[in-house]
Order: sequence, then C-alpha cells, then structure tokens
Amino acid sequence: MRTFEDLLKESSAIHGHHCAGQVLGVRMAMVGCREVGIDEPRGCKKLVVYVEMDRCATDAVQAVTGCSLGKRTLKFLDYGKMAATFVNTETQQAVRVLAKDDARALAPHYVQDCANPRDAQKQAYRIMPEDALFSVTPVSLRVPAQEMPGYRGDRVQCGACGEGINYHREVRVNGRTLCIPCAQGGLLPNHKAETTPKILLIVGSKKAGKTTLIEKLIPELSNRGYRVATVKHHHSDFPVSVDTAGTDTWRHRQAGAASVALATPTDLAMFRDSEGSLSLDQIVSTLGRTDIVLVEGFHEEPRAKIEVLSNSLNEPLCKTDGHLLAFVTPSAHQTTVPTFEPSSIKPLADLIERKVLRVL
Ligand SMILES: [Zn+2]
Ligand SMILES: [Zn+2]
Repeated sequence: MRTFEDLLKESSAIHGHHCAGQVLGVRMAMVGCREVGIDEPRGCKKLVVYVEMDRCATDAVQAVTGCSLGKRTLKFLDYGKMAATFVNTETQQAVRVLAKDDARALAPHYVQDCANPRDAQKQAYRIMPEDALFSVTPVSLRVPAQEMPGYRGDRVQCGACGEGINYHREVRVNGRTLCIPCAQGGLLPNHKAETTPKILLIVGSKKAGKTTLIEKLIPELSNRGYRVATVKHHHSDFPVSVDTAGTDTWRHRQAGAASVALATPTDLAMFRDSEGSLSLDQIVSTLGRTDIVLVEGFHEEPRAKIEVLSNSLNEPLCKTDGHLLAFVTPSAHQTTVPTFEPSSIKPLADLIERKVLRVL
C-alpha cells in the first residue's frame, strides 16, 4: 500500500479540501485493509466496505480503498456512526473500525501551540496512536451473494408505481410486490412518520350507496398495502348512541367521564365529547397510523372527493366542485370528471392511488 502521506494527498484532492475527516478516514481505511489482510485494495476486487457515516471520512475510505457505490463494493448504512466494516470476501476476514468519540477531546494533548482546534485535530489525528483513535473489532460477516459486486439478478416491477427494481430490493406487502418507497409511503426514509394521512371524501345524497362503495374500497386499498381508516359524519337530526346502555363504559360516561376508552387485546374504542363540532383534521388526528381516511359525508369540505349517484338521476351535489375527482354511478351522466360503475372498484382505486395517495 502507498504511504499515508501519499494517500492523504490524493484523498484530499478527491474530497476537495484537506480536513481532519480525511486524516481520520485515510487512517481508518489503512487499518481496515491491513486487518483483513489486503495490502493493495485498489483493483483487488475482494474488498467490500460498509460505511456507517456520510461525512468527510467516507470520501477518504473510498479514495484509499477504491471501493465505490457504483462498483457495489462500498455499502452505505445510514447509522450516523464514525465506523466502517472492511470485508475480505475471499478469506471472509472482517473487522469493524470505529473512530473513538473521545479522540477529538484528546487531540489537543498531542499538539503544541495550536490555537485553532480544527488544525489541532488535523495534526493530532496524523500522530495519535492507533488505539487512541480507533477500536477495531473482528466481526463475523459474510457478504450475501446478491450483495456481491458482480451479481446479476432479475428486475421486477413495483406493483404500485410500476418502476423497475433491481436485485431483490422489492418488498412484499399483503401479497403485493412493492418498491421500498411505495411500501413505506414516500421516497425518503421516515417520510411516512412525518406525513398526515390522505383524506378522501365519499359524498352523495342519502341512500346513494356511499357506505357500499366504502365497503368495497377498504379491502381493495388494503390489499394494495395501504392502511385505511374511515370516518362517518352523522347529522344531528336524530341522536345516535354508539355505546350500549348498561355497559360498563356507558356507565362511566353516565357518571360524567369526558372520555372513555375501551381497550381489549385487539381493539381500542373511544367515546368522548366532541366538544362542539370537531374539524375533520382533528378527527383524523385521533385515528392512529393510517395512510388514507375515507370519510363518509362532509361534502362541503374543500377536499378531494368522489360523489356517489344513485340510479334515480338525482342532481349531483358537487357538480361544480373543483375537488371532485369522479362520479360513481350506474347510469349515464353528463360530466367533466371520470365516471365509474359501482362495480369498477379496481379502476377507481387506481385513480385514488394516482390522485390522492401518491400526491406528496
Ligand atoms: Zn472534509
Ligand atoms: Zn413503487
């Protein structure tokens, strides 16, 4: 292997500047290669490196080893740790090299007369003993065949977005083959946790078939991998009781509890004051983890909606509503939006995926 100074010079040139990360990364890579018995990593084709950081040092590891994402010899694990695991795929020797957290605090002890802490780090990392900088742990790690550089595998198509997926990155959700972004609900990791569920109103006159449509959409969307919740808007023309008189929860409420939760190992039911009229967003925020909320009613809300029209050629409620995505009706209507037969659930679900679920 070339000298430390040589490698550092080259790695700083590739990285774009000379920094403490380059010093640390070059040393880390040199230690890793040595420990797995690879003297000249460049072009050796048997080294695979798993890096756990996306910092300056990552570029140094790449520069020293010649491993890269494109060659499939550099693997990125987004752990935010200053560590890399070096694997000799021929001998199966593997070590994880972790930069010690206290190395930074120790750095000033190794240099004299250095006012700038960054410069002190840069200088100290060159000369600090290896065991002050790194902890090196042998690991038992076999790179799976499909992760090896030369692997060729089938490409499959994502059942939701239709895009091609390489080499077993697809996931199975409820019997469907999906790409990772479609399965997790967004292109970025954790995207799902930050997004609120999509809301789709199913509107229409009384007895138009709203509940029947919702009953068919729930399994269709669930089978496509989405978690579906529903909300039913009940007008206050006549009172409705969801809790049965005489039950324990009913008695709790009768005694004046503002909220009562009924918890079983499989279900959670809540009875609570609606404190006047809760907004749809407030209601949806109580529903737990969900991808889409199908709301029966609330037709005046300015949100994506589908109107169900019964056979009787009623005048549509939302004919001029810009949020109307489609009509569901067995009879012909003059419309500017798509019309679906009540039995055409799959094409309707396709439209919902396109117009509601996949809108970022
Ligand atoms: Zn840097
Ligand atoms: Zn996809």
